[in-house]
Amino acid sequence: MFDSLTSRLGSVFEGLKRRGALKEADVKEAMREVRLALLEADVALPVVKSFIKTVTDKAVGAEVLKSVTPGQQVVKIVNDALVEMLGSENTGLNLLGEPPVAIMMVGLQGSGKTTSTAKIAKRLTEKERKKVMMASLDVARPAAQEQLAVLGEQVEVKTLPIVPGQQPVDIAKRAMQAARLGGFDVVMLDTAGRLHIDDSLMDEVAAVKAAAGPSETILVADAMTGQDAVTVADSFHKRIGLSGIMLTRIDGDARGGAALSMRQVTDCPIKFLGTGEKMDELEEFHADRIAGRILGMGDVVSLVEKAAETIEQEEAEALAKKMQKGEFDLDDMAKQLKQMRKMGGMEGLMGMLPGVGKMKQQMAGANIDDKMILRQEAIISSMTKKERQNPKVIHASRKKRIAAGSGTSVQDVNKLLKQHLMMSKMMKKVSKLGKKGFMRSLGN
Ligand code: GDP
Repeated sequence: MFDSLTSRLGSVFEGLKRRGALKEADVKEAMREVRLALLEADVALPVVKSFIKTVTDKAVGAEVLKSVTPGQQVVKIVNDALVEMLGSENTGLNLLGEPPVAIMMVGLQGSGKTTSTAKIAKRLTEKERKKVMMASLDVARPAAQEQLAVLGEQVEVKTLPIVPGQQPVDIAKRAMQAARLGGFDVVMLDTAGRLHIDDSLMDEVAAVKAAAGPSETILVADAMTGQDAVTVADSFHKRIGLSGIMLTRIDGDARGGAALSMRQVTDCPIKFLGTGEKMDELEEFHADRIAGRILGMGDVVSLVEKAAETIEQEEAEALAKKMQKGEFDLDDMAKQLKQMRKMGGMEGLMGMLPGVGKMKQQMAGANIDDKMILRQEAIISSMTKKERQNPKVIHASRKKRIAAGSGTSVQDVNKLLKQHLMMSKMMKKVSKLGKKGFMRSLGN
C-alpha cells in the first residue's frame, strides 16, 4: 500500500547518506523531498506541515551516534516521528463497563462495515473468549440484515433475529435487551451506511448512539479512497464522536496518506486494519509496523537502535570501572541518574523486581520519585565542571546560585551533595575491601 512513498523516501535518504555531517541545510533539503513525498502519498497538508516541523526540530543539531551515518540517523528520526504521528500506543478495544457493552460500527456504504463487524466479533469470540452478539441496523439496503446473519453463521457468532419493518433505534434497544437477558458480554451494532455523508444518516447514527450508549464507536473507512476517507472521518467525528478507526482494504494499492492523516485529523486511534475479504484478515494496528512499511527501512532503524544501545552499554561499563577505582564525581552521578530515568525511573526499576510493593511505599515516603531524579539532574547541570569534579569547592553563595539556576532550594542542593558523599564513601569502601571483602563486611 505504501510502495511509492517508500521508494521516494528511499532516494531521499540515499542522497543524505553521502553527506558527512548532519547540518541544518542538509536536513532542510532532505525535508523538502520528504514533504513532496508525503504530499504525493496523499497526506493532508496540515499533517505534512506539522510532521516536517517535528522532524526538522529533532534532526537539526541532533547528536549523530558514533557508528552510524547522519543519513541513517535521520531515517531513525523520521521513523520515530511517523510512529508518533500514527499513534504509538495500541489501546485495543475498550470493553470496560457493565456487560453487555456495545461496539457501534459506522461508515459509508461499501467501506467494509459489515465484513469488519463480523471479523471483530470473530476475534473477540476466539481470542478474548467473549460472548458476542451481532445486530444489523441497516434497514435501508435490501438484504443487509441477511448478509450479517450469513456472516454470523460463518464465524459462529450469534446474530439478533430479524424483525421485518423494525427501525434502527428500536433494533438497537432490542439487541441490548436480548444481550442482557442472554448474558452476552458484547453487542456489535452494524449501522446503515450511505453512498455519501448526509444529514439523515448522521441523525440516525446519533440516535442509535444515544440509545445504545456504546463504549466504542468505530469508523470503518476504505483506505483506497485516500483523502476522501479523511474527510469522512472528520465529518463523522465532529457529528457523532468516534473512539477509533478501522482502515479496510490496506491489501489494495492505495497510497499511505489516509492512514497517516486520519489519526492526526481526528485524534482517534486506528485500532484495526482490514487486510482482505476473508474473516481472519484482520490485523491489530501497530504504528511501528506501519511506519516500517512506509519507510521500508526497518534494518536501518534497528541498526541505529543497536548503536544507541551499544553506547549506553559502553557508558555503563566505563562508569562501573570508575566506581571500582573509588572515583565517583557528580558527572558520574548525573550519568547514573540519567540511566535510571531511561529505565523508566524508580517506578520502572522497581517494577522489574518481584515483591517490591512494600518497599515502593517506603520509597514514596522518602520522596524518591521520578521528579526528584529530574531535580537532581537539574542541580548537577547548574554546577560548573570544576564543581562537578570536586564538590568540596561549593560554598554557601554558590549553593544559592545553583539552587536558583536549577529551580530548587539550597536544602535540595545540600541533600544531593550529602547523597553523593555517602555514595562515594561507600564506593571507596567497596574498592578497598574488594568485592569479596565487602560482601563479608555486609554479612557481619
Ligand atoms: P458495507 O457496505 O460497509 O457493509 O461493506 P461490506 O462489508 O459489504 O464490504 C464491501 C466489500 O468489501 C465486500 O466485498 C467485502 O468482502 C470487501 N472488503 C471488506 N473489507 C475488506 C478488506 O479489508 N480488504 C478487501 N480486499 N476487501 C474487503
